[in-house]
Amino acid sequence: MSKPVCYSTKAFATPSATSPLSAAVIERRVPTATDVQIQILYCGVCHSDLHFARNEWHFTQYPAVPGHEIVGRVTAVGSGVKKFKVGDTVGVGCLVDSCRTCPECRSGLEQFCGGMVMTYGSMDKHLNRPTLGGYAQSIVVTEDFVLRMPANLDLAAAAPLLCAGITTYSPLRKWQVGPGHKVGIVGLGGLGHMGVKFARAFGARVVLFTTSPGKTADAQRLGAHEVVVSKDAAAMAAHAGSFDFILDTVSANHDVNAYLNLLKRDGHLVLVGAPEQPVAVAPFSLIFARRSFSGSLIGGLPETQEMLDFCGRHGITADIERIRMDQINTAYERMLKSDVKYRFVIDMATLA
Ligand code: NAP
Ligand code: ZN
Ligand code: ZN
Repeated sequence: MSKPVCYSTKAFATPSATSPLSAAVIERRVPTATDVQIQILYCGVCHSDLHFARNEWHFTQYPAVPGHEIVGRVTAVGSGVKKFKVGDTVGVGCLVDSCRTCPECRSGLEQFCGGMVMTYGSMDKHLNRPTLGGYAQSIVVTEDFVLRMPANLDLAAAAPLLCAGITTYSPLRKWQVGPGHKVGIVGLGGLGHMGVKFARAFGARVVLFTTSPGKTADAQRLGAHEVVVSKDAAAMAAHAGSFDFILDTVSANHDVNAYLNLLKRDGHLVLVGAPEQPVAVAPFSLIFARRSFSGSLIGGLPETQEMLDFCGRHGITADIERIRMDQINTAYERMLKSDVKYRFVIDMATLA
């Protein structure tokens, strides 16, 4: 296959696991018949961006451009594009393509397709180099992986829905969390604060677990009925054996058994946080109460659109702190200190 025609766009990239991100110029393909070209207006900053930029998952190729909470405006469409036109407000999340034919793709679960192409760090089928993410002025994506943004939502605050939103919405829906359920959310960061909002919107009783006592009032404002500081052993013990479901969003190593032991018989703990190190599970945390421990990865395209439409109907967005592109390295350091309220979003106009 010959290389498609490309154009240049400004971006922020990192050349190695130990370098800060800095200004770069990257190539995007000129839209093919089925592509949508998007001017990126805002891009959320996910903790996965940091794990990836620093090669904590051991698959990063450099130079790397993170960013998979992308919202923007359509600037061009290919001749065969049916769903979008120039000027539309759209989103792109963690996926930009998949095989389209396997059982996962046919079920709308493209995130589990063996041939799925992530927005950054996958092999780009067109350019034969790793895909480059949304810390950039523009991106070109096949129309089937472009999402429609609800018109009533603030665009900057809606950007984090594309990853933090769907990653928490999907497991809460899969496990049918709702009225009568006691639900725990572990960690009040980007994912955790969306988890609190969704669990509350679905009608559950919501308990937020945090290592940061200073986040208690915010957690209540965001929708938690109760807040437990996880370092407080007595407060943890008071909840033993009482939860139907717990969603663990923690980005660093921690003792997951402390949360498994809070589940009722047949309760579920779902891990979405992806720390670098393996997680140790004590067998007795599971077998004594027939508890289950599983994971969840973002969500497929149909469910992501469903989540966006749900947020449009219910006026749900992220609580964000807008940053300039050149503040990204400081933002990463603050993220490592759990000092995010509750998602950084890059104003891409600052890259001009
Ligand atoms: P984040 O904004 O940095 O939030 C993580 C939160 O975890 C922190 O705010 C903090 O909350 C808590 N935390 C941090 N260090 C901790 C420690 N040592 N012990 C206990 N708690 C700690 O990160 P995020 O963007 O929400 O992402 C969270 C994780 O999910 C990351 O690992 C990310 O890669 C992963 N992720 C997975 C998926 C998926 O599809 N499965 C998608 C997106 C992201 P408190 O201050 O409240 O304790
Ligand atoms: Zn993410
Ligand atoms: Zn597939």
